Amino acid sequence: MSITPLMPVYPRCGVRPVRGDHCHLIDEDGTRYLDFASGIAVNLLGHSHPGLIKAIQKQAETLMHVSNLYGSPQGEKLAKQLVDKTFADTVFFTNSGAEAVETAIKTARAFHQHEGDASRFELITFANAFHGRTMATISASNQTKMHHGFSPLLDGFKYAEFDNLDSVKALIGPNTAGFLVEPIQGEGGIRPASQGFMDGLRALADEHGLMLVLDEVQCGMARTGKLYAYEHYGIEPDILATAKGLGGGFPVGACLATEKAARGMVFGTHGSTYGGNPLAMAAGSAVMDAVANEDFLAEVTEKGERIRSRLEQFIGNYPDLFELVRGKGLMLGLKMKVQSRPFFVHLRDNHQLLTVAAGDQTLRVIPPLVIGDAEIDEFFEKLSAGAASFKIPEPA
Ligand SMILES: *Cc1c(COP(=O)(O)O)cnc(C)c1O
Repeated sequence: MSITPLMPVYPRCGVRPVRGDHCHLIDEDGTRYLDFASGIAVNLLGHSHPGLIKAIQKQAETLMHVSNLYGSPQGEKLAKQLVDKTFADTVFFTNSGAEAVETAIKTARAFHQHEGDASRFELITFANAFHGRTMATISASNQTKMHHGFSPLLDGFKYAEFDNLDSVKALIGPNTAGFLVEPIQGEGGIRPASQGFMDGLRALADEHGLMLVLDEVQCGMARTGKLYAYEHYGIEPDILATAKGLGGGFPVGACLATEKAARGMVFGTHGSTYGGNPLAMAAGSAVMDAVANEDFLAEVTEKGERIRSRLEQFIGNYPDLFELVRGKGLMLGLKMKVQSRPFFVHLRDNHQLLTVAAGDQTLRVIPPLVIGDAEIDEFFEKLSAGAASFKIPEPA
């Protein structure tokens, strides 16, 4: 037998973390890595955050799981925290981002069917989007590399160009249910939508009676200096998927919706065995307590601006390597002039700096939101050393 016990769907590297310490990961062999990847925008509070540990420990001792057939004081608490701080009136809890997007897709379809228009089942989605790895969420993305081997895909998605309203207008028809969009594309390369694009989507949704569905699984939860990225644009969605940072490392996601948008989601239409279990809710509440306040968000903005301006200075020293810096808050991307993956590997293996490669030749800089001056300085030391020692690989 040659297959590994872990199904070999990931190209796992030699870093094998066994312990986390604030903004560092410690490997099996004791090597310390500076973690500017955060488990891909998950560990908002870093690793082994005392408040989060305590909340999880306390809940685990008290009650870990009960069925959604019972009342949920823990779920009501986190739902109320989210409703109080967002556009939403109601929340469905999931265990992952893909499930949160699935719920959002079902909510948008159910809205129109509840209104008596079952022909409106199509969501317009965007080139280079990433929405997860379930059948519906790979179908929602035009990235054919994720489709290979899994046909037939789910019907009901049309792909427009990101940040191009004309391409959206051309696809609106009698079957359109709404738009599904990341306000800042994550996997696609930290690409923020323009103000005009988000305004335009909101206006088109209003004009045609469509649902504006945001996938904020990566850009949400304080990462950009607002609790959710839509706040930067001064618009509100009808439905929003959130996850990644929501549990600070504990698996939890959520679909948020307005009362109107959730009209079709009545008794019996949806469910999850684990979704919203007390342990996940305790983790989510602890994270919300830590991040959903003006002081914390202002710090994220300030640190993001500081790193950004230092990055902009830094890339000037390496005009052959880097093109530009983009993103918001602590969701930053370095667009490179060469493939970003070899540089990301070089930083990881030779300078013990963890980042994440993304589409469009971009290196993602997505540190824990609790980084301080020492971590920022360490980041620039490692990045500078890494850029100085990097040899652009010969094209194959
Ligand atoms: C990570 C991600 C998802 C999928 O989340 P999972 O928890 O991996 O299912 C969906 N949308 C976006 C924008 C993401 O970044």
